[in-house]
Amino acid sequence: MRKYISYISLLLVFCFSCSKVPLTGRKQLNLIPSSQVNSLANQQYSEVLKENKLSTNQQQTQLINKVGKRLSTAIETYMKQNGMEDEIKGFKWEFNLIQDDNTVNAWCMPGGKVAFYTGIMPICQDENGVAVVMSHEIAHAIAEHGNERMSQQLALQLGGTGLSIALQQKPQLTQQLAMAAFGLGTQVGILLPYSRSHESEADEIGIYIMAMAGYDPHAAIPFWQRMDKQGGAKPPEFLSTHPDPANRIKNIEKAIPKAMKMAKKQA
Ligand SMILES: [Zn+2]
Repeated sequence: MRKYISYISLLLVFCFSCSKVPLTGRKQLNLIPSSQVNSLANQQYSEVLKENKLSTNQQQTQLINKVGKRLSTAIETYMKQNGMEDEIKGFKWEFNLIQDDNTVNAWCMPGGKVAFYTGIMPICQDENGVAVVMSHEIAHAIAEHGNERMSQQLALQLGGTGLSIALQQKPQLTQQLAMAAFGLGTQVGILLPYSRSHESEADEIGIYIMAMAGYDPHAAIPFWQRMDKQGGAKPPEFLSTHPDPANRIKNIEKAIPKAMKMAKKQA
C-alpha cells in the first residue's frame, strides 16, 4: 500500500512539474526552479573563469562573441514572438574563449553561460563551424537539459513521498540534495555528459537556431564529420553518449527542411 501512495504522489509531482521543450514540444520533468539551477550555474561559471586562462587571441575571442550574440538574439526573439519569454527570463548570456589547446570542447551552462576552449577552434574552422557548436550548446540550455537531468536524479534518490514533501516544505533541502546528487560543487558535476536523446535534441534545436540567425544549417554536416575524424581523448560534452555519427547526420538532414522554413519566416 505504501508503495502505491508513493507512486501516486510521484505522479502528482510529475504532473505539476511537466513542461515542454521549446521547438521540439517534448514533455519533460523539471523539478527544480530554473532560478536555482541558474544561480548554481553562475557560481560554477565564475569558478571556471577564475581557474582558467582566457585566450588572448583577439580575433577568435571576437568571433565567439559575435556568433554567440547573433544566435542568442535569434532564439530570444523567437521565444518572445511565441509566448515563451518566461522560459528564458533568467538568462544572462556570456561567451568566453578559454586558452587550452588540448581541450576539444565547448559548453553552455544553464542560464546562458558559454565557454569555448581553443582546442575546438581548428575543428570549427570558420564562423559557420563556430555557429554549429555554439547553437548546439545553446540548445542544451534552452531545452533545460541540465534541470531535467538533475530532476531525474533527484526523483530516483528521493522516491515519491520524500520528493513531494521535500519540494513542498523544504526547498532548502531539495537544493542541498540536488547539489549532493550531482556533485554541483565541482565542475564535473554540472558538465556530466548528456544522454544520447539530449544530444539528438540539442542537434535538432541547434539547427533551428542557426537558421533563425541566418546561418546555413547545412554546415552542421561537415562539422560533425570533422569532429568524428578527430581521434584521441574527447572531453565530456563530446564523449561516448554522442549519437552514432551516421545517425546523427541522418537526424540533422531530417531537421534541415524545417530549419530552412524558419529561416524564411525570420527573414
Ligand atoms: Zn551536446
